[in-house]
Amino acid sequence: MKEQQEEIWRLASLDPITNMPNRESITESVYHLTRKRDPFTLFSLSFNRIAEINHTFGYELGDEWRVATVNQLIRLLPKDAMLGHLDADNVLIVLPRRMEDPEVLALGKKLGTLSTHRFRVDVYDLFARISIGVSRYPEDGVQASELIKHACIAMNRADKKIGAQLELYSSQMDIESLKRYELLRDMRGALQNKEFYLMYQPKVNAWTGQIVGAEALMRWTHPTWGSISPAEFIPLAEESSLHLELTNWLIEEVCRYLMTLPKKVPISINVSAKYLYQEHFEHVIEDTLARHHIPASYLEVEISETSLLEDAQQITQAFERLNDLGIPIAFDDFGKGYSSLAYLQAYSAQTIKIDRVFAHNVNQSRKAQGIIRSLLLIAEEFGMNVVVEGVEMMDDLLRLREFGCHVIQGFIFSRPLKESEFEQALEAGTLTPIEEYVETLPSSSRLIHAGITITRLRNRDVAVGTSPIVIMRRGFKAIAFYGSIRLPVDSDLSLVILLDDGMAPFPIQVKRLTELANGLYQYEASYEQTVELEKRLTALESEKPRGFTIQKAKDLIDQTD
Ligand code: C2E
Ligand code: CA
Ligand code: CA
Repeated sequence: MKEQQEEIWRLASLDPITNMPNRESITESVYHLTRKRDPFTLFSLSFNRIAEINHTFGYELGDEWRVATVNQLIRLLPKDAMLGHLDADNVLIVLPRRMEDPEVLALGKKLGTLSTHRFRVDVYDLFARISIGVSRYPEDGVQASELIKHACIAMNRADKKIGAQLELYSSQMDIESLKRYELLRDMRGALQNKEFYLMYQPKVNAWTGQIVGAEALMRWTHPTWGSISPAEFIPLAEESSLHLELTNWLIEEVCRYLMTLPKKVPISINVSAKYLYQEHFEHVIEDTLARHHIPASYLEVEISETSLLEDAQQITQAFERLNDLGIPIAFDDFGKGYSSLAYLQAYSAQTIKIDRVFAHNVNQSRKAQGIIRSLLLIAEEFGMNVVVEGVEMMDDLLRLREFGCHVIQGFIFSRPLKESEFEQALEAGTLTPIEEYVETLPSSSRLIHAGITITRLRNRDVAVGTSPIVIMRRGFKAIAFYGSIRLPVDSDLSLVILLDDGMAPFPIQVKRLTELANGLYQYEASYEQTVELEKRLTALESEKPRGFTIQKAKDLIDQTD
């Protein structure tokens, strides 16, 4: 009886592969710790390879992987640590005591060395990709499930950040998370409040400058966060069915605009593959075109090559239905994904839009030249059109002309334009290539590392973490600072800057915000000068070398981001 009971207990509480406690049982252990009310620390650690290994090598090797990684991990753990499985190759490490930041980081560093360990699985040498998240009782939660969840959230954050292996859970959101949260919350209302609008970027004949088409690009003017790029909100919209409504609105809007244009050119819209999974999606398009009396050939659909699944039956059918309606299809961001050429064979599309990574500096890159020329050949063979995206420099345009690229879409001819501006451009008919002026700044100034945070937003106090910035003194009461985040400066907002010296933060008022070509935001701000603050700034500055470039600012921020 006793033996049987033990066996039953074993089956119920241990992972059958590794003989470590399973999720229920490690959660139970954490629960008991919370009952004792003594501080303790949780590490959630993932090796991040199991899905891939199961998929590539099969489940048996997946099991071997789990055993090998856990065995190696145990060797690195302190004596009092408990270990259990959460799921797949994600484990929970419980340390029944309080650990201060330095100790957490030291253990994290040690566990991080597993990234360089060769795990022998069958005849293969495999590497892990470690990410670790930490939560602590009682400051990060008081319930077992909550604490484990928070350790996992921190781990996922570490996984997404470049260069980070370990993140501490902090109940404080950082500015990015606050923004994300607010965008998600406000998105549905935004469609009703008409906060979305479209810009049109011309597609231009490479030689004559004649406008031969346009791409409709969405924008969102958020009441707090200002103009939001679709690269930021489309992925959020795709988490719910909202992207379907947005796309329906987009089709309606483009058809309405086309109808008002005295001189018409085909306009393309971006549609995610998910939209095409809807049954009868084509009816909306057909109906909208008919209502506005627009021929199908004037609406082109761009589908990002990276969003397609290989050989999906539904996508093949969706392409056929679009083709039947007479709507041209373009492969967007072509060459960026890993199955581009396979898609060419599997689906029938009319246009290839070569991704901007290839156009950028094509003049200097022999490889990019080779790729573009090969794609031009393939397109010719298949009877397809080619558009080259993202052309910014004259040298690149000249090179592309020489290769026989006919259609260009890029800043060299035009940025995306408002409705009325695009109509005027169409009226004129042609555009002239112009290289954009790249901003340069005084070279004598020094950059100081700092963090910025919001303390009040729309009349309420907020507590969020800091975002990295670099600051540059600009003379009397004035500084400029650079960051990769767009702060909601048009709203009622209080900002403070935290310097690396760890002393009191100081408030600033933003006067002007400029978006720079490399994606950084430049803020000009004023602050209250005091003798003490000036001393602190001077002390920090003196450690830094002179010589300022926007690129240096970007590098500094990317390092800490
Ligand atoms: P995309 O389809 O690749 O669109 C082209 C993007 O490249 C646009 O950014 C455009 O402003 C930018 N661009 C054009 N020429 C140049 C250039 O010479 N240099 C550089 N650096 N950039 C250039 P935008 O408007 O921010 O759009 C970002 C992405 O958001 C789009 O990439 C597209 O995938 C997505 N998107 C835009 N509108 C929609 C939409 O209505 N629906 C969906 N599902 N996605 C959209
Ligand atoms: Ca596109
Ligand atoms: Ca594109």
